[in-house]
Amino acid sequence: MIQNRAEKATALLDECGVDALVFLHPPNIRYLCGFTGTDGVLAVTAKGDCFLTDSRYTTQARSQVAAAEIRQYQVKFDGVTGWLREQGVRRIGFEAETVAFASARRLREKGDADWEWVPLEKPLQSLRALKDAEEVAALAEAARLNAEAFEEILPMVRPGVCERDIALALEFALKRLGGEEKAFDFIVASGERGALPHGVASDKEIRAGELVTLDFGTRIGGYHSDETVTVAVGDVSPRLREIYNLVLRAHDEAMAALSPGVSLREIDAVARDLITAGGYGEFFGHGLGHGVGLEVHESPTLSTRSDDVAREGMIVTIEPGIYLPDEGGVRIEDTVQVTADGCRPLTRIPKDFRILPA
Ligand code: ZN
Ligand code: ZN
Repeated sequence: MIQNRAEKATALLDECGVDALVFLHPPNIRYLCGFTGTDGVLAVTAKGDCFLTDSRYTTQARSQVAAAEIRQYQVKFDGVTGWLREQGVRRIGFEAETVAFASARRLREKGDADWEWVPLEKPLQSLRALKDAEEVAALAEAARLNAEAFEEILPMVRPGVCERDIALALEFALKRLGGEEKAFDFIVASGERGALPHGVASDKEIRAGELVTLDFGTRIGGYHSDETVTVAVGDVSPRLREIYNLVLRAHDEAMAALSPGVSLREIDAVARDLITAGGYGEFFGHGLGHGVGLEVHESPTLSTRSDDVAREGMIVTIEPGIYLPDEGGVRIEDTVQVTADGCRPLTRIPKDFRILPA
């Protein structure tokens, strides 16, 4: 599908006070002009835009890219600066957060001495934050696959099965159902490994009486799903049950509080204050959530330091957790869409406490 969001890029020129923008970050390039390959440059001025790539990708670019011009280069930074020179630009903005230091230096070296390179952070962070209907449809479909794959592999979550096998089964199911690629290395963390917020699946076997945290996702049309489920295998200790209930309440209340105009720091605080009041504040060490889109972690951020405000069309995760060293952990994560008057989950797996047969 050919995407043309050139008007978004030209609006950014004014907002950032530059006469050209150079995009090197593949998700931004895909978003703005549709190119799904991994190497290329999109350059934009008020007069028009140009997508530049090498011979490996020219054919692909001609069928995918909506840009006024498509150009092939031999040497990337010669190609880009050559085009910019023809446009007669002076102030050029680039992606401060993702452009490698060496790339920025090369751009500077190859450009004219009187050009001014402007590193941009905030305006580019919010470029992809509001999702349109087509993006929401892709995200919802990826979320639907999560639920379907989870249902399929659930009987595997039982004593004696190792975490890695469950992660592999999930990955296989998601691919077979039509998912493009796993969104990240899946977390399957059982028992005391549940205390590792990023406990990538290991060869540990599941035992009765443990909580198992599964964090996984796939991609549809480049858009990710991200969801975490924690289940009990047989009866678990009262303390694990207690932290489950607390995390679920934090998750539910944060979701209930999320609507346009509310600061995302405040949403983080809703969940964090509840967990702190329950006596487990020190065991919730990460932010409450993040944006999801062409990248599985993108702007905005829900955390104690966030200065973003919820806006209709944002897609974010709500994922509080409690991690007790040597004991176990709980995380519950949904991906939700901010609507006109609240939010609605895209992910579909029920999050009430679930005890699987041991
Ligand atoms: Zn996740
Ligand atoms: Zn997440």
